[in-house]
Amino acid sequence: MSELNKDMIRGGQFIVKETKCEEVFTPEDFSEEQKMMRDSVKEFTDREIVANNARFEKKDYALTEEVMKKAGELGFLGVAVPEKYDGMQMGFVSTMLVCDYISSGNGSFSTAFGAHTGIGTMPITLYGTEEQKKKYVPALATGQKFGAYCLTEPGAGSDANSGKTTAELSADGKSYKINGQKMWISNAGFAEIFIVFARIEDDKNITGFIVEYDKDNPNGITLGEEEHKLGIRSSSTRQVFFNDTVVPVENMLSVRGGGFKIAMNALNVGRIKLAAACLDSQRRIIGNAVDYANQRKQFKTPISEFGAIKKKIAEMTANAYVSESAAYRAAKNIEDRIALREADGNTHQEAELKGVEEFAVECSILKVAVSENVQNCADEGLQMYGGMGFSEEAPMEAAWRDARIARIYEGTNEINRLLAVGMLVKKAFKGHVDLMTPAMAVGEELMGIPSFDTPDFSELFAEEKDLLARLKKVFLMVAGSAAQKFGTELEQHQQLLTAASNILIEIYMAESALLRTEKNAKRFGEESQKAQIASTRLYLYNAVDTIIKNAKEGIVSFAEGDEQRMMLMGVKRFTKYHNFPNVVELRNTIAEVVKEANKYPFNG
Ligand SMILES: Cc1cc2nc3c(=O)[nH]c(=O)nc-3n(C[C@H](O)[C@H](O)[C@H](O)COP(=O)(O)OP(=O)(O)OC[C@H]3O[C@@H](n4cnc5c(N)ncnc54)[C@H](O)[C@@H]3O)c2cc1C
Repeated sequence: MSELNKDMIRGGQFIVKETKCEEVFTPEDFSEEQKMMRDSVKEFTDREIVANNARFEKKDYALTEEVMKKAGELGFLGVAVPEKYDGMQMGFVSTMLVCDYISSGNGSFSTAFGAHTGIGTMPITLYGTEEQKKKYVPALATGQKFGAYCLTEPGAGSDANSGKTTAELSADGKSYKINGQKMWISNAGFAEIFIVFARIEDDKNITGFIVEYDKDNPNGITLGEEEHKLGIRSSSTRQVFFNDTVVPVENMLSVRGGGFKIAMNALNVGRIKLAAACLDSQRRIIGNAVDYANQRKQFKTPISEFGAIKKKIAEMTANAYVSESAAYRAAKNIEDRIALREADGNTHQEAELKGVEEFAVECSILKVAVSENVQNCADEGLQMYGGMGFSEEAPMEAAWRDARIARIYEGTNEINRLLAVGMLVKKAFKGHVDLMTPAMAVGEELMGIPSFDTPDFSELFAEEKDLLARLKKVFLMVAGSAAQKFGTELEQHQQLLTAASNILIEIYMAESALLRTEKNAKRFGEESQKAQIASTRLYLYNAVDTIIKNAKEGIVSFAEGDEQRMMLMGVKRFTKYHNFPNVVELRNTIAEVVKEANKYPFNG
């Protein structure tokens, strides 16, 4: 590894390492080029997607395909693809940015875009041979052809490696015959390139294949009818049946049995991109909701004047701000890791794979937190519209329905919660993140007498930083003791792992917002960051409550007697505010800025 960068943060390390605000990337660090890209994507989204929302709601699948084609012509489908294969070869942050702003018009287009550029194209760019990339990627990057990803089956969802689809080698060794049924396949109605996972003989792991589909010469492929879904109504979702579908051996992706790895790595990228896809939706929902609240009068007063509504505006805004902070922080960490790997002689392909894999913990954290934030945002946005919120004529009804899927696909939030902690513990066992030394130090600290000094909290966020450092101790205490107690059996204790995960998630999200705000306060002045400071404090305040609840739940599930009492005391000590923030005042500060701006006020 390069000498220069040996201190670069590793995935999952945030939980044991103090990060300086100068070390994080924030949306305020976008380059001029990135801002231009953002503006052109926004303009595209308004013109092609938002303006056609009524059609999208009427299951106009052809429109989705048409707009995808236009996105392809403008290069938006190839942002992550190397130039060599007709892509734009942008850095990871820029690809997140495009995904962020192109996804907010509606969930139908967002899903089609995500399925095509992510899981539909990436397995080839990341695992394909040179021939496979040359043959398939340029058409995918430019929107001449669309991709779909066929992993899920009726009997194999979360347990993705349990699929029954088979691939049988022909007698002459030149091709495989694929048989099986895939379910919930996004873009199936218009895709011509399917990434299909199937099992060869009784291999432990599935294998990936690139399968071409030509409706005039279907090669044993048939499609089910369009699924009728709660939301994302113009996103094509069908079953795909393979009946003796012949695929040349050279279309195998990576190696025999390598499919599960491909599937999982594609999902890592998919997860962080899904978080990006839930960002601008929050901004738009907030913009619509506050605009409505500023206009709608009841009791001769704009409803945005009411404290109950201000509370909603503030919470929605703070959560969106935090989502954005964490997503771009992780994106830049990944981009830097990729650059480091490339500098060390890895190909871009290897570097990207390893870079994203390194931050798989953060990818899962972001997937869970941001998908839940967008759903809460849509729910509160709908509530702010009152009866109109329930009407198809107002934008909230569709936003609410569309948001729901984000908690289900790219690995359900239950699975991602388990993965976040599970992968972190694995990293600790591998020696990539030292959890045990700090966990033991926390254990010793618990036996000692706490300090009763009143610290100096005069600097911005001094108290919050002190608190965050202690919140990390809560995680180390709960997860460390649980890992010691259960060892490799820990994964059987899902409720405990989920509680630990909730703590981990809140810490990452709160810390990301704090670092962004601190960085910006230092360079732009505290006065200019009043609402961001309030958003950070508000989020942290809520996070502390979530952490207390989950820590207690975790501890009482496995510790008893003195050990339990000591750990519960620890929770009290580590989650203590010296000076409680006035949350009502924080919310009012945020709400006033949002009301005044009449939209989400941060990040352009
Ligand atoms: C609109 C839509 C689009 C989709 N697009 C695609 C696509 O393009 N390609 C593709 O391959 N798939 C796609 N999927 C499938 C999607 O990824 C799966 O639905 C998802 O992974 C969950 O699998 P499942 O539906 O079989 O649910 P199940 O796995 O049966 O899960 C049901 C419930 O049990 C929980 N659960 C399952 N296992 C565990 C466990 N071990 N521990 C704790 N809880 C558990 C889950 O969290 C969930 O709450 C799509 C799905 C939808 C709805």
